Amino acid sequence: MIITIDGPAGTGKSSVSQEVARRLGYDFLDTGAMYRAIALAAIRQGVALDDADALGDLAERVQVDFDWTQNPPAVRLDGEVVAHLIRQEQVSSAASKVAVVARVRDAMVKLQQEVGRVRPNLVTEGRDQGTVVFPGAKLKVYLDATAEERARRRKLQLEAKGEQVDYEQLLQQIRERDARDSGRAVAPLKPAPGAVVIDTTTLTQQQVTEKIVELARERQ
Ligand code: C5P
Repeated sequence: MIITIDGPAGTGKSSVSQEVARRLGYDFLDTGAMYRAIALAAIRQGVALDDADALGDLAERVQVDFDWTQNPPAVRLDGEVVAHLIRQEQVSSAASKVAVVARVRDAMVKLQQEVGRVRPNLVTEGRDQGTVVFPGAKLKVYLDATAEERARRRKLQLEAKGEQVDYEQLLQQIRERDARDSGRAVAPLKPAPGAVVIDTTTLTQQQVTEKIVELARERQ
């Protein structure tokens, strides 16, 4: 059974998806990490983030895959584990820019569908997993939360890592990324038809996880 979990950044999507996968004994696919890996390649190779043709060439040239022996699986760029290099704000912002390019998306969608064939018990998280990549998935979930709550969560996360951050600036970055993800022509962020929408603003990650595991067990 394939479970898709889509939604904007800061909804707890990643932690919840990993926990749901762990509880069900399923594999976990972080598709955002793939766009981040392409963004990292673009930054490293000096490819302009507004050059759609060059980004399309890049996505078709580099190899993005995962080391499935790690938990969570670690994304690799041309065989190099880059999982620890892709979480900075610069890469987050660049990822949402490369993700508007249709050829970049086509390349990633093919890879994701291949993962789904090889690993049919899969929790896959992203922005378009239910709408485009696995429209036939048995369970589709869309996680949401207000931008303010998502900025607050992000601030706490960064502070826990010892980083000092400005709340207003984070909120602004979240709103810009949301606008790019929801406003793009190809595979915009939105709930898939038939998706269960969960507003996580006032829920704990554990409550959200519990709800999804329950839904999955009902549909197994
Ligand atoms: O989920 P994460 O924040 O790691 O994703 C980084 C960026 O990659 C998102 O802002 C979005 O632009 C893009 N993305 C996407 N489709 C996906 C996953 C991520 O467009 N399935």
